[in-house]
Amino acid sequence: MSYPTTALMPDRLVQAVAAGDTVRAVAATTTHLVQEACRRHGSWKTATVALGRTLTGAALLASSLKTGERVTIHVEGRGPVGTITAEANAQGDVRGYVRHPKTDVPLRPDGKLDIGTAVGKGVLHVIREGGFEIGLMEAYRGSVPLVSGEIAEDLTYYLSYSEQIPSAMSLGVYMEAGDGVVGAAGGFLVQVLPDADATTVRHLEQTVAAAPPITEMVRAGAAPEDLLRQALGDLDWRPLAERALQFVCTCSLERTERLLMALGVDEMRTILAEQGQAELICHYCNAVYRLSAADLQRLIDAEMGGKSI
Ligand SMILES: [Zn+2]
Repeated sequence: MSYPTTALMPDRLVQAVAAGDTVRAVAATTTHLVQEACRRHGSWKTATVALGRTLTGAALLASSLKTGERVTIHVEGRGPVGTITAEANAQGDVRGYVRHPKTDVPLRPDGKLDIGTAVGKGVLHVIREGGFEIGLMEAYRGSVPLVSGEIAEDLTYYLSYSEQIPSAMSLGVYMEAGDGVVGAAGGFLVQVLPDADATTVRHLEQTVAAAPPITEMVRAGAAPEDLLRQALGDLDWRPLAERALQFVCTCSLERTERLLMALGVDEMRTILAEQGQAELICHYCNAVYRLSAADLQRLIDAEMGGKSI
């Protein structure tokens, strides 16, 4: 393969249609956002790959959303990494975490990271929501058993079974030999719409199966368009839209304070009396918010002020 070497290429997602608009395809490179997730969570190799695949899968699923909507994937496995959560929106913002980031399991006999064992058996949930700032409305929730814990296979099964759209997803995260360095990450999703003819479906089955591993392509510098070319073969296709992808968390000191105030005055007084301060950690990005005794008193006063006559 010969792609331009573009190690510093930012993360991107490209949406496309193929075969007279009877096939929907989307591909993304996510190396930098997976690296950022790994850095924030201090995750070890196996956990990083499991989280990175889920983050990439969320970015791909979010490609069909409208502004203000978001999709959340919960991989509720019973394996050593614990539950994985990834969320993405229509702006290309992606965030997520894995319950036990400092987890590795023995390599598979073929020398690859054993993500299926690390994730384990369990359930995959996908939740689509709309209306970010006006109170989230749950629009759609689907759940299927995990088929392999390898994430791409599980999401493919979910889309085909729960959302009833024949789909093929491929995801990959490559870890460099050193600790905490994500060498490449990305993925593609191909979906066959009801009008697709049998020849197109057979063609896609072959091209998707024959596509080189995502990690190999992205390590060689492949852009999302290159991933689409491999996935779609010689089908006629055209790009519809593209966007940048980034790890972004919506947490802030202000939101943390609102969360504390929602606990109520009595609870805040208890925290102040027992701990003398409050420390809250955002699961999604590992940011730590520390509120001093004076901060807590200010919130209590504000809450009391708001309720006094
Ligand atoms: Zn956060």
